[in-house]
Amino acid sequence: MSAVQKVLIIGGGIAGMSLAIRLGQSGIKTDLIDRDLKWRAVGTGITITGPTFRAFQELGIESEVRSKGRSNA
Ligand SMILES: Cc1cc2nc3c(=O)[nH]c(=O)nc-3n(C[C@H](O)[C@H](O)[C@H](O)COP(=O)(O)OP(=O)(O)OC[C@H]3O[C@@H](n4cnc5c(N)ncnc54)[C@H](O)[C@@H]3O)c2cc1C
Repeated sequence: MSAVQKVLIIGGGIAGMSLAIRLGQSGIKTDLIDRDLKWRAVGTGITITGPTFRAFQELGIESEVRSKGRSNA
């Protein structure tokens, strides 16, 4: 068992959310807080390139992300 059992993640951007997924997969509980009370997405879309897709693959969310967007690959 990990020495760390619960983590507070400050910031719910892609880094914080990815960390929450990864820690959750390791059995570590997380609380995630963001200073934006509405936790809005900024902008209207995002272009995702290879390194990000590889990170999504590692996290096990790549096919779900692809299903929500439009892919040229
Ligand atoms: C206009 C624009 C367009 C972009 N387009 C693309 C794109 O098409 N493709 C791409 O790959 N990247 C794009 N980027 C870059 C991408 O948005 C960033 O690389 C990415 O969001 C960084 O993620 P992050 O989790 O590190 O930080 P952020 O997404 O900035 O998330 C940080 C979070 O922490 C919260 N926070 C900050 N300080 C505190 C605090 N003290 N307490 C609590 N919460 C806090 C913030 O509210 C925020 O939700 C774009 C960026 C901008 C500005």
